[in-house]
Amino acid sequence: MSLLTVGTVAFDAIETPFGKTDKIIGGSATYGSLAASYFTDQVKLVAVVGDDFPKADIRLLESHGIDTEGLQIKAGEKSFFWSGKYHIDMNSRDTLVTELNVLESFDPVIPDSYQGVEYLMLGNLSPQVQKAVIERLDQKPKLIMMDTMNFWMDIAMKELKETIALVDVLSINDAEARQLSGEYSLVKAAKKIMEMGPKTLIIKKGENGALLFNGDSVFFAPALPLEEVFDPTGAGDTFAGGFIGYLAKTDDTSFNNMKKAVIYGSALASFAVEKFGTERIIKISDDEMEDRIHRFIDLVQLEGKF
Ligand code: AMP
Repeated sequence: MSLLTVGTVAFDAIETPFGKTDKIIGGSATYGSLAASYFTDQVKLVAVVGDDFPKADIRLLESHGIDTEGLQIKAGEKSFFWSGKYHIDMNSRDTLVTELNVLESFDPVIPDSYQGVEYLMLGNLSPQVQKAVIERLDQKPKLIMMDTMNFWMDIAMKELKETIALVDVLSINDAEARQLSGEYSLVKAAKKIMEMGPKTLIIKKGENGALLFNGDSVFFAPALPLEEVFDPTGAGDTFAGGFIGYLAKTDDTSFNNMKKAVIYGSALASFAVEKFGTERIIKISDDEMEDRIHRFIDLVQLEGKF
């Protein structure tokens, strides 16, 4: 099934306890579309960059089968830039710089060839743009998933809630779930957030895994304990791309299949953190993917009677 990914295609500068990068490519749609490309060859991208964005990196996305017809390139403008610094636990970070640049006036255009898309991933982006994309699709997709972050809660909470009301699945981290709901308990937070619209909520907890809420049901997927965590940037977007990519591949949006999708999303995210930026997720072999899924299954499988 086809999947439309919307979000940022960006430059990032990252500092972790293990090193520092100057401008490398990142962005929610970059990570999300690359992750999804491991499950479906029908990933379509809507995003905007300036003419400072390297053509080679656009070709890299295309080499993963990602359709870039919906990627606008603005002459004379600068790409979105984000810079962050991770704390020693690597689970929390400070945003040092957010330069919206081309994002400030981004008007998403949906190419005709994208109409009729079955799955929609609204990656972290301004909620007004996320909403415009939903409104500009002629047909409602089978499933709309949305990711966001504290930045948009701080500056556009009203617009954010309007967009959240339109989606089927919301994925946010634990601190964002607390900020959005005003509740400390994640169970209470989940209830409040699901009342805002989404039937399904995913709360990401970094190295502590992810919770999948749907009505009164909850599923927990651990994160794989890794020997080396180099750079957590993009782990959330990679998770989201892997999750919805698996749903699009299987074309099954049942809760049971979403549980499997959480495992696939977590597996993809576990690759993302092993190297800086997108370096690790641009080349995952079939054997590596299969091996990682089995490591997840082994991690949670219990034998014998209780
Ligand atoms: P994650 O680590 O999954 O939260 O995603 C990190 C990515 O999000 C980076 O590659 C950034 O370019 C991108 N990003 C950071 N801030 C924003 C923002 N306010 N809106 C959209 N994308 C952002």
